[in-house]
Amino acid sequence: MGLTSTSTGTEILNYCGLHIEKETQQDKIVALAGNPNVGKSTVFNSLTGLRQHTGNWPGKTVINAQGKYRHDSKNYILVDIPGTYSLMANSTDEEIARDFICFGGADAVVVVADATCLERNLNLVLQTIEITEKVVLCVNLMDEAKKKKIRIDLDLLASRLGIPVVGTSARSGRGLDLLMNAVGSLAGNAFIVNPLRITYSDEIEKAISMVEPLIDSVLNGRISSRWVSLKLLDGEESLLLSLKGYLGCDLMQNKKILKKVNAARLFLAEAGIPHEQFRDQVVTKIVKTCESISRESITFEKKEYAERDRKIDKILTSKLTGIPIMILLLFGVFWLTITGANYPSNLIATALFALEDQLTAFFVWISAPAWLNGLLIEGMYRTLAWVVSVMLPPMAIFFPLFTLLEDLGYLPRIAFNLDNFFRKAYAHGKQALTMCMGFGCNAAGIISCRIIDSPRERLIAIITNNFVPCNGRFPTLIAIIIMFFAGAVGGTFRSVVSTLTLTGVIILGVTMTVLISRMLSKTILKGIPSSFNLELPPYRRPQIGRVIVRSILDRTLFVLGRAIVVAAPAGMIIWILANIHVGNLTLLAKCAGFLDPFAKLMGLDGYILMAFILGFPANEIVVPIIIMSYMAVGSLTDIASLSQLHMLFVSHGWTWLTAVCAMLFTLMHWPCGTTCLTIKKETQSLKWTLISFAVPTVTGIVVCLIVANTARLLGLG
Ligand code: GDP
Repeated sequence: MGLTSTSTGTEILNYCGLHIEKETQQDKIVALAGNPNVGKSTVFNSLTGLRQHTGNWPGKTVINAQGKYRHDSKNYILVDIPGTYSLMANSTDEEIARDFICFGGADAVVVVADATCLERNLNLVLQTIEITEKVVLCVNLMDEAKKKKIRIDLDLLASRLGIPVVGTSARSGRGLDLLMNAVGSLAGNAFIVNPLRITYSDEIEKAISMVEPLIDSVLNGRISSRWVSLKLLDGEESLLLSLKGYLGCDLMQNKKILKKVNAARLFLAEAGIPHEQFRDQVVTKIVKTCESISRESITFEKKEYAERDRKIDKILTSKLTGIPIMILLLFGVFWLTITGANYPSNLIATALFALEDQLTAFFVWISAPAWLNGLLIEGMYRTLAWVVSVMLPPMAIFFPLFTLLEDLGYLPRIAFNLDNFFRKAYAHGKQALTMCMGFGCNAAGIISCRIIDSPRERLIAIITNNFVPCNGRFPTLIAIIIMFFAGAVGGTFRSVVSTLTLTGVIILGVTMTVLISRMLSKTILKGIPSSFNLELPPYRRPQIGRVIVRSILDRTLFVLGRAIVVAAPAGMIIWILANIHVGNLTLLAKCAGFLDPFAKLMGLDGYILMAFILGFPANEIVVPIIIMSYMAVGSLTDIASLSQLHMLFVSHGWTWLTAVCAMLFTLMHWPCGTTCLTIKKETQSLKWTLISFAVPTVTGIVVCLIVANTARLLGLG
């Protein structure tokens, strides 16, 4: 770490393996930070042109871009750090950004912000100036802000923040000269900065003052001792590790420091700020400061959205009509999905199963051994046929509809309508948005939790995201509903009953999300909800063509591909399990038999529970596994419609109660493998990953136990 000279005289700064080549001693290093999608790459490309190269951050799969530009006869090396919303080290990107700002040895940090939603972007600016004084704020997209009649007083902003602030429209190159001037004078120490110091509550300030002098004497001015003190009080593990690498010693191994930190934490706890609330209070203060700075320096000449939008919002977000309309829309989307999916689903199933007969005939014709036919056709092909026919049609309808609502700008309205409920649950209103993303895919929902700044509220959103069914679970729900609840009625009513049931299940999922969020807020994630201003973006006319292409390519085919990759080996495994005998029984029957007593208590059976377990890699294969298992032990071989499926299930003892419990468990059980990995990546913690696994699982088991046994007691099941 540090500077090393090469024989050519070129300096190579090597921090944790990141090479930055300086041509001369005087070359300045400039870090480029910013939230995602604020025009950071546009600024980077405009300044550096072709003089850039990319690589990876050492040891990480995150791309690192570096480029050079010359200004006022000086060379500048621009290092693009990952786009992040905060520097709280909630993800690898945030860790890299924080570490580079903290230890990268940059002469200046440029934070690029979006002028059209500056308040949200200020969060990163404030966090950055806590670490380093050498910050320039580049307020980009000024042209867009002007169009939206948002006026930003850049001078006032500069004086409030105490750092240089420059307005740019990077796409047209406007303001970049000023930006380079500001960077030049800051990096050359020609600009005296006086960055805003956030003052926390008296208790936190006292705690910092208990620790800071000692830290200061150890750090010797290398990093902000106030910020490090704050982080030590917080106990941010990943920073402690990075600090250890940078300083060459572990601060928390220093007995004196440890003693001071413990004393300060004790003081805080006695003053009513237990450790788990500390970070929340810090974040809340930062968010409040962003709000107050924005109030002073930003004016919306025309309200953020036009008259027409306001009129629409009066209906879509009013207390009286907002939620009913939301439920109606949900109903509409599901109705279209269910009615639309039924016919093509049967068509695809018929075609694929007809092909199965041909394939079997082919295997007989080439005299292939029976086991090969069984493994490939009855095991793999049949499962794939089920996955494709059951999943493809509903997804091809649901995703474009959902993406259409997203493109229209309706999702933030959902967040607005549900804000109150989440606030009552002591969680964050934006959680509703992350929940909406979970409808598509829970892993995507987990990643979207980054929009929540408070770590406590983000964890709540992550842990409860699984309570909304992703598209992998939708087909399971739809298949069960059509088989068991719409069977009693015919025609149009059939789809109405199916849709009502599905809507009910989703409402139950949302209710459980709020209830569990509240329980978490009252137990392991205690705290107060942080306030935030939800922006209601203008409604946009959706680009239908793009929506269809995006939803079919990005979502439908992606999810289907994933399901197929998982389903093919799963189908073979099931076939093998169903064909290996241990004594009189097959392995499949043995495993199911082992699970059966507990599963029965939950209103399921051993095969269903096993299908859920084997479906861990991808939820979409649960129903195909149940079918495969039943077919392997039954006599039915060719099932090409949901009514035949119904018969198969009933012949294996399914009643309406089994269907209800299977649906409840579909809604509430462990997140799939991909989601678990994403949770681990996002939280950087095995503990929270395990909790995220356990919370929906335990809830599902308890709910199933209660429902099944109450129904049995009442003589209903
Ligand atoms: P990044 O994710 O922060 O790197 O953002 P990009 O540089 O990829 O920019 C995101 C989008 O904003 C792109 O479509 C850019 O063309 C556009 N963009 C960037 N800067 C400006 C600007 O100053 N004005 C306008 N109107 N668009 C911009």
